[in-house]
Amino acid sequence: MEAGMVSVDRWTHGSQVYFLTHIHSDHTKGLSSTWKLAPLYCSRITAKLFPSKFPGFNLSLLRIVETGVWYSLSLIAPSSNSLVTVKAMAIDAQHCPGAVMYLFQGEFGCMLYTGDFRWERTSKKAQFGKNMLLNALRDKKIDNLYLDNTYCNPSFMFPSREVAAQQVVDIIASNPDHDIIIGIDSLGKEELLLNISRVLKTKIWVWPERLQTMHLLGLHGIFTTKTSVTRVRAVPRYSFSIDTLEGLNLVRPTIGIMPSGLPWALKWVGENRDPLQSSSRSVSRGDRINRSSNIGSYSNIEMPNMMVKSFERYHKYMYAVPYSDHACFAEIQEFIELLQPDTIKGIVSSSPSYVDPHYYFSHLCRGIQPSCKYQKLERPTERKKDEELHTKYNFGSKKFVGAASEHRRIRPRALHSREGCVSILRRERRGVKILETDCKD
Ligand SMILES: [Zn+2]
Repeated sequence: MEAGMVSVDRWTHGSQVYFLTHIHSDHTKGLSSTWKLAPLYCSRITAKLFPSKFPGFNLSLLRIVETGVWYSLSLIAPSSNSLVTVKAMAIDAQHCPGAVMYLFQGEFGCMLYTGDFRWERTSKKAQFGKNMLLNALRDKKIDNLYLDNTYCNPSFMFPSREVAAQQVVDIIASNPDHDIIIGIDSLGKEELLLNISRVLKTKIWVWPERLQTMHLLGLHGIFTTKTSVTRVRAVPRYSFSIDTLEGLNLVRPTIGIMPSGLPWALKWVGENRDPLQSSSRSVSRGDRINRSSNIGSYSNIEMPNMMVKSFERYHKYMYAVPYSDHACFAEIQEFIELLQPDTIKGIVSSSPSYVDPHYYFSHLCRGIQPSCKYQKLERPTERKKDEELHTKYNFGSKKFVGAASEHRRIRPRALHSREGCVSILRRERRGVKILETDCKD
């Protein structure tokens, strides 16, 4: 597709139409209440959340897309000044409420921008999405895949959300005399909270703005802002720390639960390196990734054992549970195997730890691979990959935050990691102006 036509999750000047995959803040940087560049396409749920996220936003700019429906856009090709048609379809990304992928078709070929997504192999909803995508493609193939590469590293292995949700329920049920606090973001993890509420027959406390969001999502009667009616509280992730838990335990016995794919990966990294190693519980052999895998072939990752992996107790007051709204490495691989794109571009590209998805998956792509960045890279050793993972996180803070956070710090004190401080900025911004050259540089 020519430059100057379509942007996805990118809000600068220069495009004729804009698409928003979901309303997490790392996808809306540059979008504001006063933004008015052009029509903005998004899902119905995202549109519903717009006024609270961007008060005063001109809602007449929004164009709601339903999933599974082709929308035809008449745009001007800047090079020829002629009218061209671009077709777009939204597909449920199974990430957070309202999150969708976008499939584009036109003279340029076929592009898929996943935004953030999680398609678990055991999920019926994911299967529905796969069928929708394959039906839309028919006999066509994806030329350019813009991929959620958040966990595009074999160290990121975690179970389905269904399994992880049961782990959270088990922790809560086995601590009947404790107050429970769970760290969440301003959107996402609703299914986890609903599952806790349903199984344990309890309401869940959320902060007032979050209650408003729950109501906008149609979730009534489950969440409350009254602390007296429940011992389970979902709190903003940024307020969640060991310090907070220690303070709360001076008053009442309290444990914290952090649902994220991130601490899970930290544990893997810590197996081989200080400082994490000292306090991570040992891992059974069957849970380990087979690190003798050849580059480009990870079929021998021991996923079945990972599926029954238990949570981690990082601190006497803190549990980390591998509940993530992003695809783990094996799911990314499965996704690429399904689509066999010509080229792949990771949408998380601002991190210094970025690894070109071609590094792991070039053998699954149909096309000739980009000739510069990837091929000039030294093939990382396993140790180097560990270092790359390490650089993704910051161990200098007492905040215990997870994968979807940006510019935040991790300092799981229980990991005794002060001497291992590594600073990073992660996911400064996402999104692309769709450019003809995007996948060819
Ligand atoms: Zn997201």
